[in-house]
Amino acid sequence: MIVLVHRALIVPLLVSLCLSACDSQPATDAEFFAKRKTMVEEQLAAPGRDIENRRVLDAMATVPRHEFVPKALRNLAYSDEPLPIGYGQTISQPFIVAFMTEQLDPKPADRVLEIGTGSGYQAAVLSRLVAKVYTIEIIEPLARRAEADLKRLGYNNVEVLAGDGYQGWPDHAPFDSIIVTCAPDQIPQPLVAQLRDGGRMIIPVGPPDNQQLYLLQKHGTKVEQQATLPVRFVPMKRAQ
Ligand code: SAH
Repeated sequence: MIVLVHRALIVPLLVSLCLSACDSQPATDAEFFAKRKTMVEEQLAAPGRDIENRRVLDAMATVPRHEFVPKALRNLAYSDEPLPIGYGQTISQPFIVAFMTEQLDPKPADRVLEIGTGSGYQAAVLSRLVAKVYTIEIIEPLARRAEADLKRLGYNNVEVLAGDGYQGWPDHAPFDSIIVTCAPDQIPQPLVAQLRDGGRMIIPVGPPDNQQLYLLQKHGTKVEQQATLPVRFVPMKRAQ
């Protein structure tokens, strides 16, 4: 007897078999390197995405994103999407990481503040491009895990603080640039105050279903503000 199984059933079955087989055979560094190269070409430098800064593209091609995602999701580390990292939080889509980094116009001597450490991946990318990265995470276990991962991987110019990033990090201010990877309702004034004259800040603002990414540039007492992209980030929490 011939049993006809509908293709709609076979395809997902094959995909899940392949995924579990792939999971049991960890990819090699060379395979991850090749996936990163494809990610840079197809998701970042490709027409329509248009990331052009060579140093940013090189950093994205170097930092092992698979080391910052849960082990079970490593095979998806270089796909064109955000991924869960535990505690209800996510690591941003690679394009968003590259876009925000490029908007900061990072220079080798810069000192940068990040709000929302999450996995530590964005901090690792920045650390390849600037002198020092200060990063603040409000969920203590995430802060500790990112700190350990960054240390394990040799990103020694990143300092992690567990706390509410709304207040910035006054001890190390002023910063050449500030990157915020969680979305407040309004631009936090303590962060604007901690930006140096001429400095840049990239920040998503608004409720979860209607956020814009803004680029701010500080000129003396004036702040120039420009909307760049519609985005979807987790909300900025406030310490109780
Ligand atoms: N940049 C991260 C992604 C961050 S997701 C990466 O590369 O993986 C946003 C993070 O912001 C979450 O981990 C969330 O806990 C954190 N967050 C939310 N509100 C915060 C606040 N007030 N201060 C610091 N971190 C905050």
